[in-house]
Amino acid sequence: MLRHRAAAFAVVALVAACSGPAQTAEGGAAAGGGDSTLPDPDATAAPADPDATAGPPAEPTATPTPTPAATPDVDPADVGANELGEIPVLMYHRLLPDGGGEYDRSPEGFRAELEYLCAEGYRPIRTVDLVRGEIDVPAGTTPVVLTFDDSTREQLAFTADGDVDPDTAIGILRDVAAGCDGFEARASLYVNAYPFGGGQDSDELVTWLHDHGFELGNHTAGHVNLRNLPASEVQRELAAGVEVITDVVVDAEVVTLSLPFGIWPEDRGLAASGAHEGRTYDHEGILLVGAGPASSPFHAEFEPLAIPRIRSGAWDGGEPDFSSGFWFDVFERNPHRLYVSDGNPATISFPEELADELAPGFEERANPYAAESR
Ligand SMILES: [Zn+2]
Repeated sequence: MLRHRAAAFAVVALVAACSGPAQTAEGGAAAGGGDSTLPDPDATAAPADPDATAGPPAEPTATPTPTPAATPDVDPADVGANELGEIPVLMYHRLLPDGGGEYDRSPEGFRAELEYLCAEGYRPIRTVDLVRGEIDVPAGTTPVVLTFDDSTREQLAFTADGDVDPDTAIGILRDVAAGCDGFEARASLYVNAYPFGGGQDSDELVTWLHDHGFELGNHTAGHVNLRNLPASEVQRELAAGVEVITDVVVDAEVVTLSLPFGIWPEDRGLAASGAHEGRTYDHEGILLVGAGPASSPFHAEFEPLAIPRIRSGAWDGGEPDFSSGFWFDVFERNPHRLYVSDGNPATISFPEELADELAPGFEERANPYAAESR
C-alpha cells in the first residue's frame, strides 16, 4: 500500500465584516492510500495491543461506553475508520435572503449545505467536543463542527407561539436533523452582549440553547478587535463575554472562544485565560477565521488554542477560495484525509501506518488496525 503525505499551502486574504487580516490556510497533511477490506480480528473494539487491556483504566477503553451511539462491535476496517483524519469546522454568520456578503448565506444555501453534509456522511459535533476529544458520531461518519458567530436574530428566534422559528438557522438545522439518520442538531454559538437581537426574549433564547445541548461560546461582550487593547481591557472584554452567558445561564461552562475578526490580542496567552476584577476565564479552545480543516484532537498536530475554520460558501469551481464548497470538493477527491469514526467514543481507531501521527497521551485508547496491503 502506498501512503504519502502531502501538504498544500495557500494564503488567502479574507476581508469582510467578521474576518481578520490575511489568514494563512494550511491544507494540512494528507495520508493517501487505498480502501481496506480485510476483516480485523479486533472487532470488539479492544485495543489491538493485547497488553493494553491490562492497562490501569482498562474499563473505559474496552467496554461499552455509556453513550448509546457507541457500537463497539464494528470492525474499524469495514468502515474505513480513521480517527486521526481531518475535521471541518464550519463558520456561519448571518442568514440573509439575498445571501448577504462573503461571510453570510441565504437560508436556502444553508439548508442545502446541511443536506449535503447529511448525504455525505458528516455528523455534527460542538467545538467543546472537538477540543475535549469527546467525539460521538456513528461508525463510518465524519464529524463536522457547526459554529455561528455574532448571535444574530436570523440564527435563533421564537415564533409568536414560542416555538423555534423554522426559518432561523437553528430551526433549519433541527429540521434537517429530524430527517437525517444519526444527525443530531448540535452546534456552537458564539455570542456577544444583547444576543439574538437583544429583545425581551434574549435571555430565553440563550437558556433554550443551553437546555437543548448547544454550546454557548465567548465572542467578547462588545465584539471588539482585541489587538489594539491594553492587556487589562483584553481581559475585561473576555471576562465580560463569559458573563453575557453566565448572567443568564448560571451553570453554563464557557469553554471555547471565537476571536472577533479572527484577531489575536498582542499577548496571545490572554486569549486563553485571564482575569478582570475577580472574574476569570479559561478557554480550552480558540477558533480562528480561516481557512482549512482542523486536525483530529488525537493527532499530534492538533492545536486546541488555534483551531482553523472554513467559511461557509458555495464555490464556483474557479480559483480556490477556501470556502466550504471548495473544501467539500477537496474531500470528495481525497476522502482518506477525513476523520472517519469507529462508532465508539472511547477508542481511537486508525490504520496502523498512521501510528506515528498519534498525539502523546492517547496510547491507551489507540486502536491501530491492519489495513490491506497489496
Ligand atoms: Zn464576529
